[in-house]
Amino acid sequence: MLLKTLFYIFTFAISASVASYLKLIVDRYDSDDSVIFKPSYCPSCKEKLLWWQNIPILSFFLLKGKCSFCGVKIKSEYFITELLIALVVSGLVSVAIRDKLAFPQMLLFVYFVFALILLVLFDLKHKIIPHFISYTSILVLMVAVSLLDKSFILPVINLGVLFLCVDYFIGFVAWILKKESDFNLISVPLVLWLMIFFFYQNIILVSIPIILYFLAVKFLSFGKKLNTILWFLSFVLIMTLFVKALFVDFDISLIKDLFVGVGLIYLFCEILFYLIGIQFLNLRVPNQDSKAETAVVLGGGDVTVLAIISVFLGFKIAFLSLFLASILGLFVFLLQFIYKRLINTKNIKLESEYAHYVPFVPYIVLACFIIIMIY
Ligand SMILES: [Zn+2]
Repeated sequence: MLLKTLFYIFTFAISASVASYLKLIVDRYDSDDSVIFKPSYCPSCKEKLLWWQNIPILSFFLLKGKCSFCGVKIKSEYFITELLIALVVSGLVSVAIRDKLAFPQMLLFVYFVFALILLVLFDLKHKIIPHFISYTSILVLMVAVSLLDKSFILPVINLGVLFLCVDYFIGFVAWILKKESDFNLISVPLVLWLMIFFFYQNIILVSIPIILYFLAVKFLSFGKKLNTILWFLSFVLIMTLFVKALFVDFDISLIKDLFVGVGLIYLFCEILFYLIGIQFLNLRVPNQDSKAETAVVLGGGDVTVLAIISVFLGFKIAFLSLFLASILGLFVFLLQFIYKRLINTKNIKLESEYAHYVPFVPYIVLACFIIIMIY
């Protein structure tokens, strides 16, 4: 009992410290301050904090909510963020202990939880999800899950199914709303792979569209129209292949192979292309400015967060999270609507410049954590 209590105090303290550091990473995202070499300082008087003024949660009480150098009030968001994250992480760790996770799985689970929390903080503060962080998390989780389960196939399929379904969903929504859809060039290797797969069901052949993509991306430029056509072509092809596998070849394992290929295309042409191609080799995807890559639009950052959930917990949990997040989001939206209409009719003009922006990542992550708790 005592050991258990000590363990939870330890977990709580570590979580609060990590939370404090994640908050610092997010706060310094658009400044030049290093997140490693520059110690914490008061944002008002720039005085370096002493060690005891850096203790998460407690320091807020020790300092009585004020900077000890200049007396400026410390924002309570630091205190609230640290407390909330420490509570959530402790709760999730207790669930993981209940489920008797082995130590390596436990470490991975904690990494997964903190990665999602970091992205929530980014969405709340900057309204963006940095692809560098989300794609790195996907890659780390995929490699770790493959090593632990000794199978590379499952995380690849989870990645492929998630990206493809969400991309189609967004494509159709954009098409119905007659909005300019932001299809990227990934439909090129996808269509190629689907056509190859129709004739030769060999997973090794997926290397052809991947290599061609890396070669072509520097020289090719597709108009939005052609991209949209290719995207619909890929949808028709995948439906054809489903029908073929189910009713002509009577072989469900073909669908598995098909999605391993799709997952590999997203892994190489989307994630590794971004992490290696764009970050290190200075490749640029035509028709996409660098700002659009990190902006959270419908399907921008949300997809990558869902992909993190999918590669770690499977695509079913990811879709369940999306479903629950939509319900939570709708519920909060209705509450806000009622509040504005019925109670707060005078202050409608107070809406900020971000009034049209609804951070959706917090809902997805909250939904995912609720599902983990009750699953
Ligand atoms: Zn100060």
